[in-house]
Amino acid sequence: MNRNRNEVIPIKPENEFPLVDSHAHFPDKEPYRKPTHSIESQYEFFFEKHNGQFIISSGSDWDYDYIQDFFQTHENMYMSLGTGIPSNRYSIDKAQKDYKVFLEIAENNPETYVAIGEFGLDFHHGKTLKVRQQQIEYFQKVIQETKHLNKPYVLHVRNATQRDIDQQNPNHEFNQRDFLNKTVIRILEEEEISPERVMWHCFSGPSEWGPKLANMGYYISIPSSAYGFNRWRRNIKGVPLDRLLTETDACMQHPFKMGTYNTPANVKYAVAAISYVYEMEQQDVAEQVAKNARKFFDIN
Ligand SMILES: [Zn+2]
Repeated sequence: MNRNRNEVIPIKPENEFPLVDSHAHFPDKEPYRKPTHSIESQYEFFFEKHNGQFIISSGSDWDYDYIQDFFQTHENMYMSLGTGIPSNRYSIDKAQKDYKVFLEIAENNPETYVAIGEFGLDFHHGKTLKVRQQQIEYFQKVIQETKHLNKPYVLHVRNATQRDIDQQNPNHEFNQRDFLNKTVIRILEEEEISPERVMWHCFSGPSEWGPKLANMGYYISIPSSAYGFNRWRRNIKGVPLDRLLTETDACMQHPFKMGTYNTPANVKYAVAAISYVYEMEQQDVAEQVAKNARKFFDIN
């Protein structure tokens, strides 16, 4: 099976109601992919269409300053403050250096952000035993050292799939398809973080974990790409609507094209995908997920 098979749903996204994009990036240069729209035009387009809110995730080291400048003159935008995940390409030394910048902002400027993240664990980009161990330790350290700030968390959790098996240690538990979900829950419980304060951004499964996490009280965020790709939609089956959030993860997760630049205005595609799975009116979905997001981020 080709997991990237495009399976666009047969309904058109609607535009008429306020939406919340609970997780987007706002690059004005090219760290991920070449911008096709300026941040100013992305902002205008979003508010012209949706008149809602969006939460921009900052990497804290390279984009914090210009995003803060932009916020000075633009309304209904909020920031979540993130820090990197050590990987095969991003060493633990570099991560720890950047983390100092992150922690300084987190401690000294709590009024500039509404959540901590994204950060988390990623066994697709960390494939060796050593890097995976570093990620787990680092994750717990970030939670330990930020929990006193009392902000909600936006987590990136990507379990190893069949293609991510550590070839040196093929039988290690790290290769299990839900090892990271279990690890994240263990650490959050050890650190006494309430599930209501945690959003699983771009929730990628495995699908039986959608209802499981929601029943524990966690929030599950569905990306715009759920519109065109069933592998995102199937993870929300059975999740109560009051646990769902919508996001674009712009400039990633284009609704129906692989590798195309995405923008926050496309959050309407996530709403359409939910309305398709739940067989509900898009407006009813939009109202509920916007309510969820405002509660989660404590914004109006
Ligand atoms: Zn992201």
